[in-house]
Amino acid sequence: MSGVDALTGTYRLPCPSAGSSRVLLSSFREIERLAGSAHPAVYRVVFRCDCGEDHVALVGHDALDWSPLGLDDDATYLNLMTSRRDGLASELAGLASAHIGRGEWPWCFFCYLENALRPVTPSAFRLLAPASHAVAVAVRCPACGSTSVNLVTRPHLDVPFHTDARIGVVAHVFEGDALRTREAFRAELQSSSFDEKRLRL
Ligand SMILES: [Zn+2]
Ligand SMILES: [Zn+2]
Repeated sequence: MSGVDALTGTYRLPCPSAGSSRVLLSSFREIERLAGSAHPAVYRVVFRCDCGEDHVALVGHDALDWSPLGLDDDATYLNLMTSRRDGLASELAGLASAHIGRGEWPWCFFCYLENALRPVTPSAFRLLAPASHAVAVAVRCPACGSTSVNLVTRPHLDVPFHTDARIGVVAHVFEGDALRTREAFRAELQSSSFDEKRLRL
């Protein structure tokens, strides 16, 4: 279904003209869980490809959430300390768990309903739209189920454990169906104003 290059944090997704394409999370446009797929859940992803077109791919839950961290990658690298080839996945898992142990999460967003910063994984993102130097994301809060819209930088999405110091938040709680399509999302963004929230000191 999909692979990832652990060194660049990209997803490898199918492109009809190039065969496959390396795609950053910020190039995703829609992420929707397929009804009826339970264990494991499968997501329908629409992404903007390097070839200039939008494509659809099916991505498993684990690949969607953990591939950018390289946790399901079986690549090896040369450990310069020991001159042995070590499993990249185990090294990255060590790094990731060290971050998470310090209370840092690979991705987070600001839940407007709860007025709180919440940890998320990519499967909580529903719609993404580029907006000048930023990306607008509609995120369904895993804690309360409401949908919030945040305006973040690309590294906030594409670099795990990177969190913007300040982000924009639409001052509105969205009901379940309010942002179903990209068209509805774009229309909402054009009429919305963003509050600035400070995420880090
Ligand atoms: Zn393509
Ligand atoms: Zn919430």
